[in-house]
Amino acid sequence: MTSTTTFAFSAGALCLDFANTWGNRGDPCADRLGSYPDLVNWACQGDLIDDRGALRLERAAGKSSRATGRVFDQAVALREAVYGVFSALARGDDPDPAAIDVLNRLLASALPRLRLAPGGACCRWQWSGPEDSLDRMLWPVARSAADLLTSELVGRVRECASPSCSWLFLDRSRNGRRKWCDMATCGNRAKARRYYRRHRPGRGVEAEADG
Ligand SMILES: [Zn+2]
Repeated sequence: MTSTTTFAFSAGALCLDFANTWGNRGDPCADRLGSYPDLVNWACQGDLIDDRGALRLERAAGKSSRATGRVFDQAVALREAVYGVFSALARGDDPDPAAIDVLNRLLASALPRLRLAPGGACCRWQWSGPEDSLDRMLWPVARSAADLLTSELVGRVRECASPSCSWLFLDRSRNGRRKWCDMATCGNRAKARRYYRRHRPGRGVEAEADG
């Protein structure tokens, strides 16, 4: 079984991109992570693994459907924990300690796999461990969430203002008042709704001046 789903990587942090694989939490059909092959495909599109690594994972997944199912459940739990934590922070609420526990459990298995490898000016982080570890794409997600939670940028996490979109994003605008995940989609729809309200029949010229 292969996945042909296309994923977006525009949120500004890997963990938020992962949360955004379910773009509208009010609509179960909007969940793009339907199976383990989707998870491998997501990791491949996000450059967490290459094509060769994806093939290895798909082969390993074929050997044990029970282990694969467990990892997929773990991935969904991680995603919902990431969404829960950052959505709460975006609203100005405290994150649920149970969601932080989910992150801590994943970090406990992920962080011991980090190694220094040659690269960059001197060294870079590299994930070690068997290349066919079914959950290896979850390690960088957990680390990304931990990095963001401990960074000053955590105050810049937003949830899209559209009622039919639950995308999270990092607001790097100068004034820190970005409302939409993407001006080309949700932003434009909101603009069109405002335009319609202003210009619908029966509205006078005075009303036009209020926008
Ligand atoms: Zn949106």
